Amino acid sequence: MASLTRTLRPLARAAATSSSRLPQSRAALGRTREATRCIYTTPPRHYAQMMSEEVDLDMDGIQPTPIFAFTEIEQAMRDSVEKFANEAILPKAREMDESEMMDASIVEQCFEQGLMGIEVPEKYGGAGMNFTAAIVGIEELARVDPSVSVMVDVHNTLCNTAILKYGTEESKKKWLPKLATNTVASFCLSEPGSGSDAFALKTRAEKTADGYRINGSKMWITNALEANFYIVFANLNPDKGYKGITAFVIDGKDTPGFKVSKKEKKLGIKASSTCVLTFDDVDIPHDALLGEEGQGYKYAIGLLNEGRIGIAAQMTGLALGAWENAARYCWNDRKQFGTLIGEFQGMQHQLAQAYTEIVAARALVYNAARKKEAGEDFVRDAAMAKLFSSQVAGKVSGQAIEWMGGMGFVREGLAEKYWRDSKIGAIYEGTSNIQLQTIARLLQKEYTS
Ligand SMILES: Cc1cc2nc3c(=O)[nH]c(=O)nc-3n(C[C@H](O)[C@H](O)[C@H](O)COP(=O)(O)OP(=O)(O)OC[C@H]3O[C@@H](n4cnc5c(N)ncnc54)[C@H](O)[C@@H]3O)c2cc1C
Repeated sequence: MASLTRTLRPLARAAATSSSRLPQSRAALGRTREATRCIYTTPPRHYAQMMSEEVDLDMDGIQPTPIFAFTEIEQAMRDSVEKFANEAILPKAREMDESEMMDASIVEQCFEQGLMGIEVPEKYGGAGMNFTAAIVGIEELARVDPSVSVMVDVHNTLCNTAILKYGTEESKKKWLPKLATNTVASFCLSEPGSGSDAFALKTRAEKTADGYRINGSKMWITNALEANFYIVFANLNPDKGYKGITAFVIDGKDTPGFKVSKKEKKLGIKASSTCVLTFDDVDIPHDALLGEEGQGYKYAIGLLNEGRIGIAAQMTGLALGAWENAARYCWNDRKQFGTLIGEFQGMQHQLAQAYTEIVAARALVYNAARKKEAGEDFVRDAAMAKLFSSQVAGKVSGQAIEWMGGMGFVREGLAEKYWRDSKIGAIYEGTSNIQLQTIARLLQKEYTS
């Protein structure tokens, strides 16, 4: 199978070259067909930046494009990941779920395909694509297996982004090539006593002559088993409350005092590892500090705001996968009363309603991604996308089981797995209540006179 990186890199380069030739107004807004093809991959400058520089924008004749319009490179990403997921992941999805283990060859292939460094610039060994390309990839993976999707999502949208946004040039050179080519990463914020109230974390860091020492524990850490690189949030100055929270990197599972402990047995996304981590006098060097001391809470908030769009994409991919699996059965395979069950109007209305809801959720996801890329405020959009897409995923995957009758309920196909996997969408990276709280808080601000 052709590697994604090999397929897409030339496209990325072409897009970069042609976007720099575009008139600025079109390049910035990307509203013409031509511009849409080019600007999102490596935009010359963000819209917000351009506005602050008071660039003269010629708005005349600019046609808005539909939210479902993709650049050439984003479409290539969708097509390649769809092929990879169907050919390599689908045959293993059931087996990985039953064994509650991610197949090592799938992890390897995700690296080979360029899926573990989607936004990492080429100079650090990544694919050098944009955020929407990552979102599209995460969605396509979830259409087949939400466990593989979340592995790729956490690695890209939280961990790689953390280094890209907050790492020094030296740390980028040191860590990004590994993260893009062979080392899985984990994002370690939650603890036994701090979930929604993430900044009540109890893990402590103290300064030592050679760097820092970490003590404490983390819980629910995705990818922990496969990872060999951990972004860890610990409080360096508890007297300052959450303003003491600092981000560190543990580069290697074999770091003395660090242990990946209990692996959780879960309802869904069983192939994705979720573990407890313990830190017992873990000594790390000065350069294991990520960004600045005391800024960890800001980093976590910023990263999770972006990450939520990834989880939303995981949920829309899951919903579409569940719907397609059932729709094919209803319209091709199963007859009752001498008729395909998908011919009954009662069934058709449900299929149509569910598909409409999936498309609505996807529109929220792509809109949030585009707003992030444009440098606009996307926090409320990300929260709405995650909230709604996880609701749609739960509803549609549940209905899909009923549409398939007994065949939806057995563990032969994937119908029941999609439903089990959907439940997590309302929990991680902020529960649905927390998303509602964010949406309401921002609305209240806007509507309070
Ligand atoms: C499979 C899995 C993978 C995960 N991966 C990671 C990871 O990689 N890294 C990481 O750091 N964390 C991870 N998490 C942790 C995840 O982010 C938390 O589980 C989540 O934030 C919720 O925290 P909690 O489980 O402690 O629930 P709680 O915070 O105890 O919430 C329980 C209930 O109370 C509600 N609630 C809490 N506070 C409020 C409030 N103020 N208003 C209204 N309702 C409220 C919640 O909505 C929820 O319904 C993962 C969790 C799971 C299950």
